[in-house]
Amino acid sequence: MHIDQMSLENKLENNRRQYDELYILKEPIDTENKLRIDIQEVVDFCFCPYYYDLKYKDKKEINIKNLYDKSLHETFYAYLLALQQDTLTNTLEFLKYQFGKEWINYKKNKEYNLISSAMKRDSYNRKRKKGIDAIFKFNDLMNKDRQLPIIVNHKYEIEICKNIILTGTFEYVRELTLKDKQKVIQIVKFISESNRSFTNMARQNDLTLIAASYAFENLFDIDYFQSVVIDIEKGKATTSYYAKKEYELLKKTVESTVICMRNDIKCISPDFRCYNCEYRNVCIKVI
Ligand code: SF4
Repeated sequence: MHIDQMSLENKLENNRRQYDELYILKEPIDTENKLRIDIQEVVDFCFCPYYYDLKYKDKKEINIKNLYDKSLHETFYAYLLALQQDTLTNTLEFLKYQFGKEWINYKKNKEYNLISSAMKRDSYNRKRKKGIDAIFKFNDLMNKDRQLPIIVNHKYEIEICKNIILTGTFEYVRELTLKDKQKVIQIVKFISESNRSFTNMARQNDLTLIAASYAFENLFDIDYFQSVVIDIEKGKATTSYYAKKEYELLKKTVESTVICMRNDIKCISPDFRCYNCEYRNVCIKVI
């Protein structure tokens, strides 16, 4: 979607001020007697309530896929923050160093009780090589178009329904200059490896991205932006535009999840999802 240059700059300037006020001055929203829930909890509970229990109640089981995803994302954020602060020189060297640091940090940390499949040496090596491959692709993607980072890895909170505050993270918000010199704002979500089946349809209706888009639109009062999922390993970007229909669906999903959680309603139905679930080894032992 193309936008008028002058109005974009004015909007951005206004929104940067709003952003500063919101997050630097920390103008809090009234949270008393309101329930807070993170969009990732909603997504995990909807995926499988038993998965939710295992992930949030027993934090000791860490899967190597999660460590890999976390290391890569931390690497991307460090890169984007350096890009924002204009301190990047050799982008590839920066990425390689950062990924090495993150990966070794997690591997060394004794607090993590890795599940048996994650302890195999070849798993570590496979993931390390895959990670290096991913950062080359990330570097190519980032160098393709001129971009101005606006927000990197920042928490948001918004009252989505009466008495329910939804929290989440803006992974990356950028102003992108397209080939025809037009500029566009994009709310970006990076995916590096999905532990779950992720079809094009699911990608276009990504609840985390819909929530970030809803929060961005309402907190900054901007309604002309793109919502983009970037699959690093495939080098593929999927662009969506969300509006009332998706936002209503988001609200209904959050509300119904809260009702289920409050009333301890857990419908567990082991099926094809289990194949891609990182807790399946633990789960199979239990049910
Ligand atoms: S293995 Fe299946 S039933 Fe068990 S937590 Fe994962 S998705 Fe849920």
